[in-house]
Amino acid sequence: MAIKERVQKILSEIPSSVEILAATKERSSSQILEAIDAGIKVVGENYVREAESKHVVIGNKAAWHLIGHLQKNKVKRAVKIFDLIQTVDSLGLAQMINRECAKIGKTISVFIEVNSAAESQKTGVLPSEADNLAKELIRLENIRLIGLMTMGPSVDDPVKLRPYFREVKELFDQLKINYGKGINLNYLSMGMSSSYKLAVEEGANMIRLGTAIFGTR
Ligand SMILES: *Cc1c(COP(=O)(O)O)cnc(C)c1O
Repeated sequence: MAIKERVQKILSEIPSSVEILAATKERSSSQILEAIDAGIKVVGENYVREAESKHVVIGNKAAWHLIGHLQKNKVKRAVKIFDLIQTVDSLGLAQMINRECAKIGKTISVFIEVNSAAESQKTGVLPSEADNLAKELIRLENIRLIGLMTMGPSVDDPVKLRPYFREVKELFDQLKINYGKGINLNYLSMGMSSSYKLAVEEGANMIRLGTAIFGTR
């Protein structure tokens, strides 16, 4: 199936309130442009350098989200091209993003990444730490916290992700109650090609799809 057909099929199967992010690591600019032509509005890249070269070609035809871990020595370059960083997981990183944005007169949107399975080798904050980090992020003038993102653990059967997705949705709802006036927490980014239907059932309104759009890498 072509990229265009895959995108149209997925769009017809999910509620219109769910945003599809095309996870575009290792995909070419022309493949990405094909997805954009088919209706994709958001692209997600894992690495700053890879995103930079594609950003030159694609520019503002899509919104750019960083979905990979951000190293502190890449923050300055990242804030120039990304519209949103989905992987904020420490105050130190957030402060650096805030500082670099202030220098170029930009306010950037961010999500907090939640390590829902509390796996020690994974990035993201523990669910129990998210509230504290949110409280700190609200104070940073050049950052706008508007969502949560989670990967979930590696599992043999995607059905096993359901309790993790459910937990992050509960956290999302709780943060909205706690900080309702201070922040517009609008996005819950969870679910990939093998798990997006499940994630949508559990309340995701942004899904991150690579293989389902572009085929196997
Ligand atoms: C690659 C990637 C995805 C998409 O993975 P697929 O299984 O190909 O859909 C989603 N989120 C992140 C953070 C990724 O790196």
